[in-house]
Amino acid sequence: MTTMNPIEFIMEKREGKAHARAEFEAFFQAYVRDEIPDYQMAAWLMAAYINGVSTEETAWLTAAIRTSGAVLDCRDCGGPVVDKHSTGGVGDKTSIVLLPLLAACDVYVPMISGRGLGHTGGTLDKLEAIPGMTVRLPRATYDEILRAHGGVFMAQTDDIAPLDKKLYSLRDVTGTVESIGLITASIIGKKAAEDLDGLVLDVKWGRGAFMQEYDDAYALAESLATVGASLGMACTALLTDMNEPLGAYVGNSVEIAECIAFLEGGACDARLYEVTMALAREMYMLAYPKSDESSAMTHLERVLKDGTARERLSAILCAQGVEKRVADELPDSLPTAPETCCVRAPRDGIVQAIASNKIGRLLAQEGAGRMQLTDTIDPAVGMKICAPCGTQVAEGDTLAELYVRRTCDTAPFAACFTLGDESVSVPPIVCDRIAVLPTDERKKL
Ligand code: URA
Repeated sequence: MTTMNPIEFIMEKREGKAHARAEFEAFFQAYVRDEIPDYQMAAWLMAAYINGVSTEETAWLTAAIRTSGAVLDCRDCGGPVVDKHSTGGVGDKTSIVLLPLLAACDVYVPMISGRGLGHTGGTLDKLEAIPGMTVRLPRATYDEILRAHGGVFMAQTDDIAPLDKKLYSLRDVTGTVESIGLITASIIGKKAAEDLDGLVLDVKWGRGAFMQEYDDAYALAESLATVGASLGMACTALLTDMNEPLGAYVGNSVEIAECIAFLEGGACDARLYEVTMALAREMYMLAYPKSDESSAMTHLERVLKDGTARERLSAILCAQGVEKRVADELPDSLPTAPETCCVRAPRDGIVQAIASNKIGRLLAQEGAGRMQLTDTIDPAVGMKICAPCGTQVAEGDTLAELYVRRTCDTAPFAACFTLGDESVSVPPIVCDRIAVLPTDERKKL
């Protein structure tokens, strides 16, 4: 057994020196067993935040997070196992379309999602807008649904990656969240516990994103894909724009309705369609390495058009507690808000920018999100963006519609739209792609 002195270990990071692997692993294993107190881990985290975490250390920490708890066993699913992780944003609902879409192509998707906090919404909260939907199920039930239907919407359980849970709550209160190495280990460690063949990463940049600057998002995407591949998952990262909300709707019920329209081939926001299909294509190509963009798109479009993906969603929802009538009658079976308030343009102009992060916070205050972890969400509260970036409006035109419990002040929402006279060039929704194959590619397919 390695003897490791935690004080010397912390001082090593404080001095910017490289750690040895055995000591590194011993330090984190001791922390999981509660043999290292939080104050020593907090000191190491701050030293790591300031002096950086090397690529090797990031990979060791990722592996330590993965193996700190249960690892799903998807090997006997009978097909490729692929998931997607998004770094989060406003109006980001792609998971809810991707899961049934890929499942309809015989790809297994054990999707562990999170809840929203602050300005970003969470997939689990959106799903819970559907009456009867249960995202917390016993492990065996998740497994059964995954095997029977090709996909399951899962909540993070206490026994998966407990080291991340401990570290993340400490980082949250010690100002050590925004470190690329620590973020990478946290995200990839959890995803690697899903026993995946492939992982697609949607790394968002811009006003509504965790990483506001493009270069920071790019560095994070590279780190995520490289470390994911070092753990045996083929990884593709897409850099996507989050300078305005994704899609036309923000909120829980309304975003589910937007996903249903997508799966039923109804009118769909062009940017939402583009980013979702780009992610779907990447997931498909990781699942079926012999496919290419064209064959992937042909299959994905077919299961969208012929209704297979929509039916698959109903089947998964029913397996997760939703009555068949409710699942089939979506979106009509969703809760709706009693009041609609119009957000009007205060002047003529072109929409230059939309402060997605502020919109997320304002909607959360109206009940669509949480201000604190214990708050209850009102699924019916939401918003339709009627004037995306680049739209020419006249004074008094509708910029957005708010769906609320009671009439509210629309001025703070109007202030989220920057109006100007210059024409606007909207950045492409998919800005870059980074693909990394694992060095010891698993031969499972
Ligand atoms: N999301 C995570 O899961 N972990 C981080 O460290 C940051 C965002």
